[in-house]
Amino acid sequence: MRLVSETILRIAVPSPLFRLFDYLPPREITAPLHPGVRVQVPFGRSRTVGILVATSRSSEIDPARLKRVHAVLDTEPLLPADILAMAQWAAAYYQHPLGEVLAGCLPVASRGDQSAEVRGTTVWCLTHTGIEATTADCTRAPQQARALEFLQHHPDGCSREQLNEAGIGPHILRALSARGWLKTRTRAATLIASSAVPSAAPSLNPAQAAAVDAITAARDQYQSFLLDGVTGSGKTEVYLQAIAACLAADRQALVIVPEIGLTPQLLTRFRQRLGIEPAVLHSGMNESDRLNAWLAARAGTARLILGTRSAAWVPLAQPGLFIVDEEHDASLKQQEGFRYSARDLLVWRAHRDGVPIVLGSATPSLESLHNARQGRYRHLSLPERAGVASAPSLRLLDVRNQKLDEGLSPALLAHMRKHLDQGGQVLLFLNRRGFAPTLLCHACSWVAECRRCDAHLTLHQRHRLLRCHHCGSQQPIPVQCPTCGCADLRPLGAGTERVEQALERNFPAVPQVRIDRDSTRRKGRLEDLLAQATRGDARILLGTQMLAKGHHFPGVTLVGIMEADQGLFSADFRAGERLAQMVIQVAGRSGRAERPGEVLIQTHHPDHPLLLQLVAAGYPAFAVAALAEREAAGLPPFSNLALLRAEATDARAPEQFLYAASADLDTRTLTGIERWGPVPSPMERRAGRTRAQLLLVARDRKRLQRLLAEWVPQLSNLKSARKVRWSIDVDPVDLF
Ligand code: ADP
Ligand code: ZN
Ligand code: ZN
Repeated sequence: MRLVSETILRIAVPSPLFRLFDYLPPREITAPLHPGVRVQVPFGRSRTVGILVATSRSSEIDPARLKRVHAVLDTEPLLPADILAMAQWAAAYYQHPLGEVLAGCLPVASRGDQSAEVRGTTVWCLTHTGIEATTADCTRAPQQARALEFLQHHPDGCSREQLNEAGIGPHILRALSARGWLKTRTRAATLIASSAVPSAAPSLNPAQAAAVDAITAARDQYQSFLLDGVTGSGKTEVYLQAIAACLAADRQALVIVPEIGLTPQLLTRFRQRLGIEPAVLHSGMNESDRLNAWLAARAGTARLILGTRSAAWVPLAQPGLFIVDEEHDASLKQQEGFRYSARDLLVWRAHRDGVPIVLGSATPSLESLHNARQGRYRHLSLPERAGVASAPSLRLLDVRNQKLDEGLSPALLAHMRKHLDQGGQVLLFLNRRGFAPTLLCHACSWVAECRRCDAHLTLHQRHRLLRCHHCGSQQPIPVQCPTCGCADLRPLGAGTERVEQALERNFPAVPQVRIDRDSTRRKGRLEDLLAQATRGDARILLGTQMLAKGHHFPGVTLVGIMEADQGLFSADFRAGERLAQMVIQVAGRSGRAERPGEVLIQTHHPDHPLLLQLVAAGYPAFAVAALAEREAAGLPPFSNLALLRAEATDARAPEQFLYAASADLDTRTLTGIERWGPVPSPMERRAGRTRAQLLLVARDRKRLQRLLAEWVPQLSNLKSARKVRWSIDVDPVDLF
């Protein structure tokens, strides 16, 4: 360690290395620099943009060899202290290089070296005198005359780019301003207020009122709440009133929803009820809109921010309340690259910022229920549906020995007919898109398989293709069996496309929509179909989980779950929890208005304890039993997991790497930590690569964390690491 006369800047640079890099400040800068500013630095043979994380008086490196920062890109920190701290915590907790974590939490448009300012939002327009002025007022300044004319043709104002294109430079703008003709305006104003007048709130039932009171009473202090309310119990209403109180106290509210949950329906509800325009942040937006919303949140002009996972990173000037809706949803965990849980991050951040956080769900994760039991979260429950709606009744339909019409049993068809005749809508859930999940040779039992994955190809009749749902590869449907030459190739099993045909045959006069990833590829199509479903134009709604999550279809009286058996016998220890959540969430789409709802679940296992319990006693009873099982098995939430995955085109490389990583573990303290593997991944081959994994299980989180901190950063030094892609997943949501 050497002491240096100049300040050393410790900089996080986007690179796979688990360390900061030391630089000297640029010569011309004398004022102290604050952590959170972006800097442009020489890195390797090129330049890159990093973030100043800390300053120091000493460095491990000979000061004579330290390079200088090229340029400081921000006059004040782009990332505030809480986001910097969260990034440091998350980098350590999830074992990911800080430079990449920080680069990832900035909107793409600010990762480069451009200035991070609201883009295209400052516009120049004429003042009252400017509008009244004529070109005759500037006969001796033809450029000004031309600019005046141009601006008179653009009453809404012009951006700097527009003016530049028109050849109107800064000196002309200055001249016009000096004459009192020109002013600037910010177009981002729409983020502050919408013209909508807040609509009246329904009066809350006692359970809702108690929840809102508890949340608002926790103002200005950290407290986690688990808002555990059955579907349709008015959780969103609780959010709205808690947010209204937060906004009235001049604080900002941040709401995180799963990817599919951010629908126009939800936005409209927020807009109408609160009378303000929410700033929206999700991955489908263009970069400059994203940057504008991000900057407005950071500046405090956006008061309510609604976003998906990555919005957990948005800086807020005056944070007041965090909400995570559908907190059990797996999409809140990023499943590639930097594998973080937006929910868990936000709980950390709430603690750091001293604000309350609400985790809401009708089917809370076992983790959150456990936290509530332990007293770490406060449990708020809404046990009944709000307003006039009543809870739907669930029933199992035994389909053994039944003649199925593309998966539809006679009993289900009869019930559909009855509900349709009575004017109800029917929602059918099948979590499998395409026409058929398998194509089989009737002569020799050959099955169409993906060449690159351990998976069957799905038949897509409409596009006349076989597609792999794991790697995306596709090929034409063969006319004959490649093994025996027989032409009798048969689709086996039913996907949504096939069920759709059966429905058209059974109910030719009934309008229907199919909602899955294939039917909603075109932009705006999902919104269209959902609107048809909500309005009641479509009477049969068929779909995958895209249809099942969060939507409110007041006319649906019957829900048919076509297959509940997929999750019953899976190797993944979370499969039961996922199945229970899925059944309850889908069931929750029915009976949302005056008419009671009915839910029918087709199964070949009508005696399965999980299904019986779910139908008879509901999700809370299921959760109690599932928690007891997890405790007995020593699985989360009673233990902590970290999964090291490796994959490579060379079939032996992943296991070689994992064995080397495992041998390295032998040199360390492993008290209280179990090692499972290395083993091949459940899907051993995907997209042409062989995959394997090594699982660490620990009762004590801190111990696991200490081990990971020593072990992971140097895995890339293993010789066998060069031949594989590897990743570490802390708190994995699936083990595939
Ligand atoms: P959740 O988010 O739990 O599914 P919502 O907040 O969407 O529930 O409420 C379900 C329906 O009940 C909505 O139509 C909502 O307007 C209505 N609702 C909610 N709370 C009340 C209440 N206190 N009185 C009357 N209707 C209510
Ligand atoms: Zn064959
Ligand atoms: Zn494949």
